[in-house]
Amino acid sequence: MNSSVRCILGFCLFSLVSACQHGPISSESRGLDILDFHVSLTPDLQTGVVYGVQKIMIRLPKNHPETLSFTSGVITVTEVSINGHRVDTQLVDGQLVLPLVSTKKPKELIEITAKYSSKPVRGYTADKSTLYTEYFSCDWMICQQENFGDKATVTLELNLPKKMESIGPGKLLGSKWLPNGLHQSTWRSELAYSPYLYAFAFGDFVTVKQKSGSVSLKYMSTVVDEDALLHLFAPTADMLSFFEEKAGTPFPHEEYTQLYVEGRSAQEAVSHSVIGEASLELILTDPKEDWVIAHELAHQWWGNGVTCTDISEFWLNEGITTFMVAAWKEHRWGYAAYERELQFAKKRYQRAIDAGMDVPLAYDGKYPSLGIRRNIQYSKGAIFMDILRSELGDEAFWAGLRNYTIKNMGKTVSSPDLQSEFERESKMDLSSLFDEWVYGKAQ
Ligand SMILES: [Zn+2]
Repeated sequence: MNSSVRCILGFCLFSLVSACQHGPISSESRGLDILDFHVSLTPDLQTGVVYGVQKIMIRLPKNHPETLSFTSGVITVTEVSINGHRVDTQLVDGQLVLPLVSTKKPKELIEITAKYSSKPVRGYTADKSTLYTEYFSCDWMICQQENFGDKATVTLELNLPKKMESIGPGKLLGSKWLPNGLHQSTWRSELAYSPYLYAFAFGDFVTVKQKSGSVSLKYMSTVVDEDALLHLFAPTADMLSFFEEKAGTPFPHEEYTQLYVEGRSAQEAVSHSVIGEASLELILTDPKEDWVIAHELAHQWWGNGVTCTDISEFWLNEGITTFMVAAWKEHRWGYAAYERELQFAKKRYQRAIDAGMDVPLAYDGKYPSLGIRRNIQYSKGAIFMDILRSELGDEAFWAGLRNYTIKNMGKTVSSPDLQSEFERESKMDLSSLFDEWVYGKAQ
């Protein structure tokens, strides 16, 4: 695949992320900790409206703020209670604002219960029998869309008009008919994730199953048949083994599903990915065009498992993942394929340089465009990982990345977390390299 095609595909993936960079103050920074979401969702395929009943479990610090904000998006809340007491909500600057009761005990737990409806517009693709969501959870549930730093467990009940295959976060706990004639499937992630990774899908899918070690692989689609799915996703099992070895920690779920759809999708979620035809179909004529499978699968460790605290550290999600695609290609296709990926990254990074935007990786200012942000966080990030590999040598580099991944799986990270693991493993002082590439401190 040539560089311009890859750029278009990458834009699709990146545009989802960048559209959400402004929003509520991180709850974590204010000492609040969202622990668990429970969402019971009834989508109406005829009208495009979803109806939800939601519970949110939150731990409050003793001196907490008087209000709590959620991304309001397109959600209309009809009823909200805190610990069983009705409260009035307000819409302020596009945020749904709830009053918080004063807390006498440290680390008090509260439960918010809400009823709402919504007509999602972003990351929500539906026809008469199929629906899938990507990234914009705040369009169909109450959450803080871009608050990467506050991970929570989630239960999602999907109440569907008929018995259908579904995909949700984590594990399918069970399914049953409800008294109102709807069919309910319940998904649960016991591992905590950032809300942008909550996603679901349902439909009359064709499904193919394979295994990678103890992990069940599912390929699902309404677009192609079983044979095509097997052909398209053939590298998945080997990739999963490769990333497990490099991460030093196993794939975190019993099952990994890839949903193949029309269009250009390339979006990771808690335990599945949505992959568009235009992002993968070249693999049918050239098996080396496997980057999108590798990219979204690598996110299961770097991005989903080990997650940047906020958008300014997004290179830790995307730069490492982009680098890991190159590493997979070296493993599978040889060093020339690794070099080719790095050349793509260098070309794209050059665009940021040409635009006068060679900013450090952890830059927290505004970018002039989504493309430039991507040129830095994806491409410059991957190049920096390659430079670290050259500086440290393979043994210390891979040991450092493994330690960083094992230590931080399920947590959130910032750049010093990566630096300290590479320094510990290499016994080198990497401060000048990180100052130059990551923090932008004067030499
Ligand atoms: Zn990505």
